[in-house]
Amino acid sequence: MAAEPLQNTAQPPGGGLPKIKALIVDGHSNHKWEITTPILRKILEASQRFTVEVATAPQDLNELPNFKPDFAAYAVVMLNYNSDGSVLRRPDRNWGEPTQRALEDYLKNGGALSVIHSANNSFSGWQEYQRMIGLGGWGHRNDKSGTYVYFQDGKLVRENGPGVGGWHGPEHAFPVVIREPDHPITRGMPLKWMHAKDELYSHLRGPAENMTVLATAYSSKQMRGRDRDEPMIMTLDYGRGRVFHTALGHGDYSMRCAGFVTVVQRGTEWAATGKVTIPIPADFPGADQDRESSIFASKEAK
Ligand code: ZN
Repeated sequence: MAAEPLQNTAQPPGGGLPKIKALIVDGHSNHKWEITTPILRKILEASQRFTVEVATAPQDLNELPNFKPDFAAYAVVMLNYNSDGSVLRRPDRNWGEPTQRALEDYLKNGGALSVIHSANNSFSGWQEYQRMIGLGGWGHRNDKSGTYVYFQDGKLVRENGPGVGGWHGPEHAFPVVIREPDHPITRGMPLKWMHAKDELYSHLRGPAENMTVLATAYSSKQMRGRDRDEPMIMTLDYGRGRVFHTALGHGDYSMRCAGFVTVVQRGTEWAATGKVTIPIPADFPGADQDRESSIFASKEAK
């Protein structure tokens, strides 16, 4: 009997699994969300695992209290939204109370959140949001916001002393170091890989409850950092919900990194399903050189 042709037994892209409904929320940020939301959409869609919709908060701040995305209609909500400025707290960019409660309820009931970079600057006055993201920066965060978390001598350290939350030096390419190689998101990744030019967040602080740090990056003194290994990729449990949080992803050029692409695809899939089926691609960066993802190689990609 003849063997089945190989192409008939090969798994289709996305593994033939039902697609995950994702909602990207944007509309306000001190970052270029108009440029980065299309990149994030492409990252998710390129995995063949997601369908993506975008909810953009109204620019008229008087209309913002009426912004009520139907979170429960999605398997995962990605936040590309920063209510606060780089140092300023901007309560006028907060969502209305019903929308805040809706996100809390969504997560408590088993929803999923994917937190990208400056979304961890957001909503500094919203206590439950701090518990969702674990660590945040800027927006007047300080010792009242919670603990600093970092790695020192290979061990996770929590530090409750005084000091502001949130810092970065000049943008540069830097290595990401995996601390939890057996987590579904990081399993099979090189233990050290070079990330493209980005802000290296440090001094993040927050409640950091039910949080696992999957990867760190060294914040060097030469780059005006704090001489410590800072959390870059985290997972959290919040109620029955799962949260994936990465501090990476300042600019579109940072997001085009094949490492970032893979981390966001797998992290967002894990938040939505508790499992990871998206493979680590052949173009994943090694320890010495960052690499742009091949998903951006085609002409229509921006
Ligand atoms: Zn940034």
